[in-house]
Amino acid sequence: MCEEINNLRNILHNSDNIVFFGGAGVSTESGIPDFRSADGLYSEKYAYPPETILSRSFFDEHTEEFYQFYRDKMLYPDAKPNKAHIALAELERQGKLKAVITQNVDGLHTEAGSVNVLELHGSALRNLCLECDECYPVEMIINSEWIPLCSCGGVIKPDVVLYEEGLDPNVMSRATKAIYDADVLIVGGTSLNVYPAAGMINYYRGDKLILINKSETSYDRYANLIIRESIGSALYEAVFEN
Ligand code: ZN
Repeated sequence: MCEEINNLRNILHNSDNIVFFGGAGVSTESGIPDFRSADGLYSEKYAYPPETILSRSFFDEHTEEFYQFYRDKMLYPDAKPNKAHIALAELERQGKLKAVITQNVDGLHTEAGSVNVLELHGSALRNLCLECDECYPVEMIINSEWIPLCSCGGVIKPDVVLYEEGLDPNVMSRATKAIYDADVLIVGGTSLNVYPAAGMINYYRGDKLILINKSETSYDRYANLIIRESIGSALYEAVFEN
């Protein structure tokens, strides 16, 4: 494994146009589970699978049940940035990393100090009134007992992309452009099976595609470097240790 980390370190050292694309695996190392891989855990307690509960029509029709699940399973207010978040923030601070593209909604990249963070699925830290667009912090969701309501009386919805909803086209196009322009593309903590991850990676034109994931991905055959290790320790070692 040392050799792969050395390769990674050299690639990072020699580039100032790195882009990172991260999936749920980046957050699991902060103790935030990937709900997609844990269907079974919820089936006893909830009458619907997570993909149903986290859909826009379910939110509209069963708002209270949505919020029961959402508060119970989707919010981790005590989670802290891990080594992956910290190493990526450092690379950006050094002027080497141009963008973090993430499928996670926990805001941990920003908390770690990353500035150019493209959140494909939105952020659980922002919550908007459906009537007047007033923005509320996540504490508003955590502390409300039933359906969180705006002072205007409107229902508040987390600014996260639910199933059946489209991604923000502005975020999508900025992310696609960053990948298209990147010299080095690091993909971590995702098996690349979830839309839109796989499609976006196709825009990369360079020859330094690095995959860091504990298990195989559908893109392994295109990768120039594969690291089968924890995303946090791989990045941290490559960035901070010599
Ligand atoms: Zn309102």
